[in-house]
Amino acid sequence: MKRNKINEMKVIFDSKSENESLARYICAAFCATFDPTVEALADIKCTVSEAVTNCVVHAYRDTVGKIYMTLKAYDDATVTVSIRDRGCGIDDLSRAREPLFTTDAAGERSGMGFPIMESLSERFSVTSKPQRGTQVNMTFKLDKNSKR
Ligand code: ATP
Ligand code: MG
Repeated sequence: MKRNKINEMKVIFDSKSENESLARYICAAFCATFDPTVEALADIKCTVSEAVTNCVVHAYRDTVGKIYMTLKAYDDATVTVSIRDRGCGIDDLSRAREPLFTTDAAGERSGMGFPIMESLSERFSVTSKPQRGTQVNMTFKLDKNSKR
């Protein structure tokens, strides 16, 4: 059965770490219409946090750029989240998605952002072009049957 979009929001913000919590709260508030469980909400907020942090620390390393977050809600109680940057992009995407892979030389990162996003979302995809940017797409199901 075809699902219908019932709400949409686009937010553009600077790649500053203080905006990461703002993005999480906007996303949580957007999902509230489906009355999600605390656990489901925690999962979504965690994935948004990982994706936005990647834009801040990797895409726009040593600079500040724009982060584009698009939220869509559908009448089958699914929410899609896309987080896009126009930063440095990723050379080897399949390697970047492997657990524990990180380009962070300072030892502050664990290389678990993508695996976390993939495991906590219903559907996950990422596209990237070197020097053009990266886009992460995630789908969450918030209907009663899939409530954790
Ligand atoms: P962690 O998320 O555990 O703190 P991490 O950020 O290194 O560590 P991932 O989030 O899985 O791990 O990302 C893996 C690698 O993919 C990063 O080290 C980085 O090289 C690259 N990467 C991820 N997101 C982006 C992005 N938006 N722009 C450019 N490179 C990215
Ligand atoms: Mg990360």
